[in-house]
Amino acid sequence: LAERLEDAWKKIRGQDKISQSNITEALKEVRRALLEADVNLQVVKSFISEVEKAALGAEVISGVNPGQQFIKIVYDELVKVMGESNVPLALADKAPTVILMAGLQGAGKTTATAKLALYLRKEKRSCLMVATDVYRPAAINQLITLGQQINIPVFELGTEANPVEIAQKGVEKAKELNIDTVIIDTAGRLQIDESMMAELAQIKQKVKPDDTLLVVDAMTGQEAANLTRTFHEQIGITGAILSKLDGDTRGGAALSVRQISGQPIKFVGVGEKVEALQPFYPDRMASRILNMGDVLTLVEKAQEELDLADVEKMQNKILQAQFDFNDFLKQMKLLKNMGSLGGILKLIPGMGKLSGADIERGETELKRTEAMIGSMTSEERSNPDLLAKSPSRRRRIAKGSGHDESEVTKLIANFTRMRSMMQQMGQGRMPSMAGMPGM
Ligand code: GDP
Ligand code: MG
Repeated sequence: LAERLEDAWKKIRGQDKISQSNITEALKEVRRALLEADVNLQVVKSFISEVEKAALGAEVISGVNPGQQFIKIVYDELVKVMGESNVPLALADKAPTVILMAGLQGAGKTTATAKLALYLRKEKRSCLMVATDVYRPAAINQLITLGQQINIPVFELGTEANPVEIAQKGVEKAKELNIDTVIIDTAGRLQIDESMMAELAQIKQKVKPDDTLLVVDAMTGQEAANLTRTFHEQIGITGAILSKLDGDTRGGAALSVRQISGQPIKFVGVGEKVEALQPFYPDRMASRILNMGDVLTLVEKAQEELDLADVEKMQNKILQAQFDFNDFLKQMKLLKNMGSLGGILKLIPGMGKLSGADIERGETELKRTEAMIGSMTSEERSNPDLLAKSPSRRRRIAKGSGHDESEVTKLIANFTRMRSMMQQMGQGRMPSMAGMPGM
């Protein structure tokens, strides 16, 4: 995928803004990538339309090249759809917290029950696991074995008892033993069937779980969407666990589950062992689904360039006329990182009419400016007024950078003027651009 997207992005890269016509190809690639990652078709469609909206509305931050910006948009959308951050398990105000496991047979419910219990114990929570899968004797034994392995108690009433009753009695037992979390393992069918759903709904109604977690096998791919819809409609889930993510899957099911239920994926299972459980992180899953480790470096670079904290700091400095030569250098460096000066200038209203020669002159001017700033002491850089007052300092800088003293004087005069102009602009007044260094 990364390669094909790269191709599509190359086409956008040369352009100076993201537009309907230049993202069509790239969107097609994203769509194909998501389908390949087993994201459900409906989910893909709505995701693509979100990306398109975000991309077309993104002109304001153009400064970064459009290719990088597009990558970032796709990635950000994906992270957003999957819930931005990790959502922890519910914690009841009054113990015990009850967690109900749901899902098809073989999805990994029983394994996940033990995994969760172990995980919670590491967080200093005590657990009781409840075995309600009475349809297969082996199922109860499986939970008992796991319980022995991790030394966590299992509540069971054999295969003759009613699952709803077992669940209720399990919660009672936890209260009695002062255990703070009950995890109820349930039965599943190979396919969704009504009696299984009815039983699950009944358990849910009786024990009123704080968390109802749907365990979804990541390998189910496209089917994850229907599965989630059915369980969510009939039972009402509050979260999910994506199991078997250690297998050969890109994990598109994560996107489907989240998009369709609106509920967070809380954990992922990454192996058969009881320790193989990890909190779900949307950002990691986004890069896995997009299969774009190297592309992420680009995204990070883009983010660096758009570092909001820095921009805000700069704005404050401008407002207070504290903008100094250090900030000026930083801005120049930023401009260079973001691409050619010409490209940036075009983004400034009224600057689109500059000719190639104008831009070249601007670039030369910037280089000279940089050389002069390079010859300033750090005290002078952070306090430009020193230079305005001292001809000897200006002479020293002129000599050091190989320029005439008059050029240094001009730079400082321009800088001072620019600083006060920027302050006015920051306060909402809009003076003319003429007179800025290099313009
Ligand atoms: P249940 O029918 O939903 O209770 O599913 P089980 O917990 O019995 O798991 C079914 C099979 O999947 C077992 O062989 C598990 O060892 C295996 N399994 C469960 N979770 C994972 C996982 O995260 N990774 C791998 N590789 N196998 C898993
Ligand atoms: Mg089971």
